[in-house]
Amino acid sequence: MTHTIVNPADESVVTTVAAASIDDADVAIARAAAAQRDWARLAPVDRARLLRRFADAVDGAVEELAAIEMRNSGHPITQARWEAGHVRDVLEYYSASPERLFGRQIPVAGGLDVTFQEPLGVVGVITPWNFPMTIAAWGFAPALAAGNAVVLKPAEWTPLTSMRLAELGLEAGLPDGLFQVIPGKGSVVGQRFVTNETVRKIVFTGSTEIGKQIMSGCADQVKRVTLELGGKSANIVFADSDLERAAATAPYGVFENAGQDCCARSRILVERSVYERFMELLEPAVAGVRVGDPADESTEMGPLVAAAHLDRVRSFVPDDSELAFRAAAPTGPGFWFPPTVLTPARDSRTAREEIFGPVVSVFPFDDEDDAVRFANASEYGLSGSIWTRDLSRGIRVARAIDSGNLSVNSHSSVRYSTPFGGFKQSGLGRELGPDAPLAFTETKNVFLAVDSPSVE
Ligand code: NAP
Ligand code: MG
Repeated sequence: MTHTIVNPADESVVTTVAAASIDDADVAIARAAAAQRDWARLAPVDRARLLRRFADAVDGAVEELAAIEMRNSGHPITQARWEAGHVRDVLEYYSASPERLFGRQIPVAGGLDVTFQEPLGVVGVITPWNFPMTIAAWGFAPALAAGNAVVLKPAEWTPLTSMRLAELGLEAGLPDGLFQVIPGKGSVVGQRFVTNETVRKIVFTGSTEIGKQIMSGCADQVKRVTLELGGKSANIVFADSDLERAAATAPYGVFENAGQDCCARSRILVERSVYERFMELLEPAVAGVRVGDPADESTEMGPLVAAAHLDRVRSFVPDDSELAFRAAAPTGPGFWFPPTVLTPARDSRTAREEIFGPVVSVFPFDDEDDAVRFANASEYGLSGSIWTRDLSRGIRVARAIDSGNLSVNSHSSVRYSTPFGGFKQSGLGRELGPDAPLAFTETKNVFLAVDSPSVE
């Protein structure tokens, strides 16, 4: 079986990719388990060196990876370049971890008590199509650093950069079988990761619906699971904020990657006294988003990933009844949808559900309590922004919002050195930051009796 890869910007065929079977997945998992046993025995300094070489190999392939991602996923070339550089940075950051997975020595009577952070074995990483290589790296880099092997199933639509990353790992000297990418269907390969007993943990990024299925599948074997799921994040603009800046940056808080971003600030909440002024400022800012050819260095937004996803986004905007304004976009070929601003009721479908496209809804609010209440009136809790000149209020509101990643006077959500993940139905566990490798270990406690008259 094969799967055809289509360039979302012009609908041309890029290549075809083999789709693995259940048997293929089992063979790969068994190879990974064999490689892991040797990997875990390697001196920490040698594992660190190989991960640094992997980072160097990615550094040398930034342009190549960016070009692949542009053609496979439709990402603007400047964005794709950033993503490839981020993969390098994540690998570099976690290449220090093999020598820093410290255990503890705990005072007890009668002997010596120490803890060890033991690798899990084989980790299954299942990634979505929206940020194929960065999300892959958030899983495989800390997992490898902690002494595990990784099998990775990329999204069916966007496997190409992950496949190239696995080759780069081999070229850098990673042991054969330690990091394998197995393209195929989620319902076949992804599902097999969940049911194969050799896989000790699943790291899943994708929809909340599939995440719930994976979590219940993992319960059978008490398999460890990390979930990074959907979002419907709020961008809260207070009247005392730098309104020009808040309006100028709001499009970039939601339309980046054509809104196919779990951190998209897809609900803008504006204090009622400045609502009209904000909308006057937002309209030209949205019109200014440069939508078009991903190969153009000045392009800020490309197409949606696939025809089926374009249909889904369109279904949220069947007519112009909620429309405030929209920007221009190419009409086709390619899967284009224009940056679109809606002013729906708070309980409408567009206000509640994750659209995962370049569509944002704007709402007025009355006061701080009202803003926090509405921001939290969501099953999701991933990100959010707060715009105010009152930094006490910035921190107060950030603490009051049930969400994993907040920023004040910024839309930044992701840094490899800080933890990332969701509250409520946006996920379970955290990726990135200094503690990520620990999530790929079990804590083992060893007590050693010490024969000494002076010790109880
Ligand atoms: P998805 O449909 O849930 O798929 C994600 C991955 O799971 C794909 O590789 C998919 O394979 C696989 N899969 C599908 N069914 C499976 C099954 N039964 N068992 C095991 N694996 C299975 O999500 P998507 O449509 O690719 O991505 C969009 C969603 O991801 C959005 O909701 C978005 O918010 C979320 N997301 C969250 C984050 C975060 O960090 N929180 C980041 C990015 C995206 P196929 O490709 O073969 O279907
Ligand atoms: Mg899907």
